Amino acid sequence: MFEEFLKNMLPKARQSSLRRLWRRVKFAGSRRHCLVCNSRLRLFLPHGVVQRPNAVCPVCGVRDRHRLAWLYLQNETPLFTKRMSLLHIAPEPEVAKKLSRCKNIDYLSGDLYLEAKVKMDICGMPFDNCSFDMLYCSHVLNMLPEDAPAMREMYRVLKPGGSAVVQVPEAKELVTVDSPWPSTKQVRKGLFGDKAMYRRYGIDLGGRLEQAGFNVTVVDYFSRFTRADQMRFGLIKEDIYLLLKER
Ligand SMILES: [Zn+2]
Repeated sequence: MFEEFLKNMLPKARQSSLRRLWRRVKFAGSRRHCLVCNSRLRLFLPHGVVQRPNAVCPVCGVRDRHRLAWLYLQNETPLFTKRMSLLHIAPEPEVAKKLSRCKNIDYLSGDLYLEAKVKMDICGMPFDNCSFDMLYCSHVLNMLPEDAPAMREMYRVLKPGGSAVVQVPEAKELVTVDSPWPSTKQVRKGLFGDKAMYRRYGIDLGGRLEQAGFNVTVVDYFSRFTRADQMRFGLIKEDIYLLLKER
């Protein structure tokens, strides 16, 4: 009701900040904590084709996988402590906003379709070799008709000694299932439950990334938290791929 009122009565620029304020009050509590917008909440909202609970922040819209990555970037990488150049591929608006405001980060975002600072195809990025200290790329590789060119490009634009933090939907089967060619929306919907997906990765993803040149570490970061903190921070059980370009 109140959100309808905002929509009808106020200019767009003010709607968003008042909507956030209203939602902070509406969902206020002590059981959940969104680390990206720093809201203390009583719950996270469900999300997904098959709805999973405890997923989306009702204030900023950030999902469980982004909160997991945020914690990882904050606790396990120098992203927030050193001067770093970061390329955020397919930027999620709220995460992009937070990262771009960090004074130590030279932030750039890029995507072909989403709102980003640079319009670009990940399979042919408009950057020189060795341009960035770090890349962040969440749930993109599984959405590409071909993933190998994107992996090679990510390797190319990283500086030696740089790293990429990559997420894909949980991959536990032995072998990646690629969409057959020619691929149609119906085939992909049938195979993966989502017409936007071109493959479901298996544990051979690490090998595919190594082919591009990366030194790959698969991190089960979710399991490093207690059950209580997994729930409190609204985290997803999904591996983080830390890709290093050696010097
Ligand atoms: Zn939030």
